Parts: sequence; C-alpha cells; structure tokens
Amino acid sequence: MPSYTYRCSAGHELDRICSIAQMETFESYPHLCEVMVKKGRPCERLLQRVYRVQPPVRFREGWYEHIAPDPVYITSPQQLQDVARRHGNRSKYMQDLGGLWNVKDGREV
Ligand SMILES: [Zn+2]
Repeated sequence: MPSYTYRCSAGHELDRICSIAQMETFESYPHLCEVMVKKGRPCERLLQRVYRVQPPVRFREGWYEHIAPDPVYITSPQQLQDVARRHGNRSKYMQDLGGLWNVKDGREV
C-alpha cells in the first residue's frame, strides 16, 4: 500500500499507510496535529500532505489492487487506463499515473 506523509506548520510529521480510497476519505475533512507540546497540550495546527518529488514511475505488469473492486492483472499501460476508466477511477493518484502513460524514456511520445 502507498504511504502518505502529513506535516503541520511546526514541522511535526505523521505517516499513514493506507489505500488510495482511505487516503481520500482521510483528506475529505481537515485533521489537526495531535503531537503533544507544552503542558501536555496537542499542537492542533492543520496537517497537510507533503508532496514528495518522486522519481519517474515506469509501468509494471502485475496485480493492481486499487483500480477496481477486485484485483486485476494488468499487462499494459493501455489496459490499466481502460480498466481504471471503466470503474470510474479518477483519483489524483490515477491522474498522476496517467501523466506517465504517454511518456517513454523521459520524452513524450
Ligand atoms: Zn504539530
């Protein structure tokens, strides 16, 4: 499963390992930092997801668990795109991945 890092303005970090759907649910309402600071009070600053610069993702054949109700064995980027669309999967993650479908060796094709 993917992991997501959240950080408050004081620099406290929270890591969550969860499915894309769980991440989207988690982010559908604001979360406050629960790190205890002075006098045993929680920090309570707003947590925001940290977007890390990721190395280019290359398509890999294999089981994809989060694009349809049941895991699907995907053999090509086109199949991945088709299955995701058929199941209405329009998450940010799929859009990010979608940006790479037309990229080969760092160049658009
Ligand atoms: Zn904090």
